[in-house]
Amino acid sequence: MNGPMTPAAAPPGGAGAGLPDLGGRTALVTGAASGIGRACALHLAAAGARVRAVDRDGPGLERLAAEAAAEAGTGTETGAGAGPGAAVLETVVADLTDLDEAERLAAGTDILVNNAGIQLVRPIQEFPPEEFSGILALMLNAPFRMIRGALPHMYGQGWGRIINVSSVHGLRASPYKSAYVAAKHGLEGLSKVAALEGAAHGVTSNCVSPGYVRTPLVERQIADQSAAHGIPEDRVVSEIMLVRSARKRLVEPEEVAAAVAFLCTPQAAAVTGISLPLDGGWTAH
Ligand code: NAD
Repeated sequence: MNGPMTPAAAPPGGAGAGLPDLGGRTALVTGAASGIGRACALHLAAAGARVRAVDRDGPGLERLAAEAAAEAGTGTETGAGAGPGAAVLETVVADLTDLDEAERLAAGTDILVNNAGIQLVRPIQEFPPEEFSGILALMLNAPFRMIRGALPHMYGQGWGRIINVSSVHGLRASPYKSAYVAAKHGLEGLSKVAALEGAAHGVTSNCVSPGYVRTPLVERQIADQSAAHGIPEDRVVSEIMLVRSARKRLVEPEEVAAAVAFLCTPQAAAVTGISLPLDGGWTAH
């Protein structure tokens, strides 16, 4: 069903030039209304997958659906139950901290991209405990529940791809990000366990672990980083965000999406249990 990388002459509904062929696959992407999730949803749809885009941001999902439809030259559908050829991208508005709902939504997907995440930058003694719990719920409990919901279908067909959007903060710590670093380190561990359990069933599980990516999540934390570190906002990107990156530039969301798509290809079938850093050399230190 899945072909090799297809540089050209993709079948109708299949991959475009330079994209892997994910025709016939279904993919669920969380946090798909913005940033990395949006790029993943568009990339996987362009590669031919039928994408279920999940987010709590309804208007953001509508913009994504319109964009996907414009790129594909076809219609979109809101809610579950798109028939073959009816839509390339289905949108579902949901708050993933409703963990029962998260597990239910994941049922039946071939590819699961656990991406939704938030950030809060505060010293531990000022970090509200309820915010800590909420970040763990969204960024660790929800991925666990979604993997749990996705596995029966994946095991049943002997094929599945779990891709967890972790972070360089799944591999390294930074001050003032206790909940985020704890959640991402936990996600790295969860991903490895899913890899070991899924191996006999044709299911791989991997993390992609970017450094700072050019998204609204990063734009929103510049003021908080400025306050926590006591430096002006215009110095945050160079002196905090890129200080450990050898490459000295932000990662683009499309670069993360391309890595996610690669992990779905036949060429990546032996890749499981890894964390793939896209960090400009940060973790080389
Ligand atoms: P973003 O803020 O642009 O997008 C996150 C999306 O998640 C938003 O659309 C938001 O509505 C959605 N979301 C948040 N809470 C939700 C909830 N409770 N239920 C459903 N949806 C919810 O962020 P981004 O930068 O694209 O981050 C995406 C992922 O990438 C996160 O897991 C983040 O930790 C990770 N990441 C980001 C960077 C970066 O520098 N931007 C670096 C490494 C890892």
